[in-house]
Amino acid sequence: MKKYDVVVVGGGFAGVASAIAAAREGAKTLLVEKNNALGGSAINALVMPFMPFTTEINGEKVELSQGIFKTICNLLKERNSYDTRKFSEEELKMILQDLAIDSGVDLLFHAYLHNVNKLGGKINSLIFSTKNGPFEIQADYFIDATGDAQVAYLAGCPVQLGREKDNLCQPMTLCFRVGNVNVEKFMASWSRFQSKYKEYLSQGKFINPREDILVFRTIVPNVLHFNTTRVVKKNPVDVVETTEAEIIARKQVYEVYQFIKEHADGLENSFLMSTAQEIGVRESRMIVGDYVLTEQDLRNFTKFEDGIAVCNYDIDIHNPEGSGTSHYYFPQGEFYTIPYRSLIPKTLDNLLVAGRCISSDHGAQASYRIMPTVCSIGEAAGVAVAQAVKKGVGVRDINVKELKQTLLKHGAFLG
Ligand SMILES: Cc1cc2nc3c(=O)[nH]c(=O)nc-3n(C[C@H](O)[C@H](O)[C@H](O)COP(=O)(O)OP(=O)(O)OC[C@H]3O[C@@H](n4cnc5c(N)ncnc54)[C@H](O)[C@@H]3O)c2cc1C
Repeated sequence: MKKYDVVVVGGGFAGVASAIAAAREGAKTLLVEKNNALGGSAINALVMPFMPFTTEINGEKVELSQGIFKTICNLLKERNSYDTRKFSEEELKMILQDLAIDSGVDLLFHAYLHNVNKLGGKINSLIFSTKNGPFEIQADYFIDATGDAQVAYLAGCPVQLGREKDNLCQPMTLCFRVGNVNVEKFMASWSRFQSKYKEYLSQGKFINPREDILVFRTIVPNVLHFNTTRVVKKNPVDVVETTEAEIIARKQVYEVYQFIKEHADGLENSFLMSTAQEIGVRESRMIVGDYVLTEQDLRNFTKFEDGIAVCNYDIDIHNPEGSGTSHYYFPQGEFYTIPYRSLIPKTLDNLLVAGRCISSDHGAQASYRIMPTVCSIGEAAGVAVAQAVKKGVGVRDINVKELKQTLLKHGAFLG
């Protein structure tokens, strides 16, 4: 296989944006994904819709994630596949694939990162498990967009699992869809079935500890999206515990479906249409990078000198131990930025991390983890690494001013 300037691991929003941005800036780029399509959690875990990414500044609505994210939204709209942040994941797969290939990105699917070869402060190559057997890929620079900081972890970089006091992560959720629903009738019975649900929960009738039923409309008529199972106290980066989590979550899917069929209206002719191909992971490892972004930074609306992405999504913490979800909402017009230094893992010179596993504490991660923001983080990582390629310097030694100018040129909002 040819040698690349940049290899990006993980084809979620962060990885796709990283790869597109790096290739657009002239780097020979490969994007590797263990599954068969781009989109990450939106595809693998059926996560939908995009969480809010706007605020009002001087009386005007401003989108905080623009650049490649805006391009993706516009393409979804052109294909009639976007409606108030709801989208079709099938169309998304095609759009991301086209965008990546048209930008000059090479794709490799069905390749699971297995190991990392390192020399001193640099990664030389990655080994993937494939149907061919072990498959080695060399590059000068790497971007870890696996969500789990898997490259950084295997390379021996320090990481933080979940919250600081006990390593518990936000719960995992297996999303599912129910088809052939009379959605209006269902919505009209909302308060009845939600209060019955709470009653059952308080009587210990559910294995699912979630406090209510979290359900969304979709862009497909008569189909509802449920983001409501909750598996707590399982480690999302332990294969045995994630297996246990999948087993518990599938039982919860049936539990919720049986419950709503009995207590909500509009489901007489419904059927359980699909469960996601894998349980959704909100939080796992975060790297310990050159700067650890904190919840306090967010609450202070901190604008960093090296801010490369902007966010105001609430600090949305699904209780890692059971029922309850806590929120801290940003006031209108307020937002924070994400520093470039939080993408740089300690101890390595040719690796950047993008997406939900950048360097931060548990509270900060609960906000910037949403798809619009990780897309912006990814775009910044791609531009940064392409600059490092051009100049032949380490990821710490790029010119951050130039990075920000390039992002602005491509339509980013940086505050
Ligand atoms: C249940 C749930 C509900 C959520 N709800 C919302 C919501 O409504 N709106 C919103 O905006 N955000 C939501 N989020 C958050 C958001 O979906 C994620 O934080 C975001 O998608 C993370 O993007 P990412 O690119 O960092 O990682 P991911 O999307 O997880 O992408 C990582 C990619 O890397 C690949 N990969 C991982 N390991 C390897 C490996 N070893 N080898 C090769 N490839 C690998 C994976 O297959 C995946 O495609 C939710 C998350 C969950 C779990």
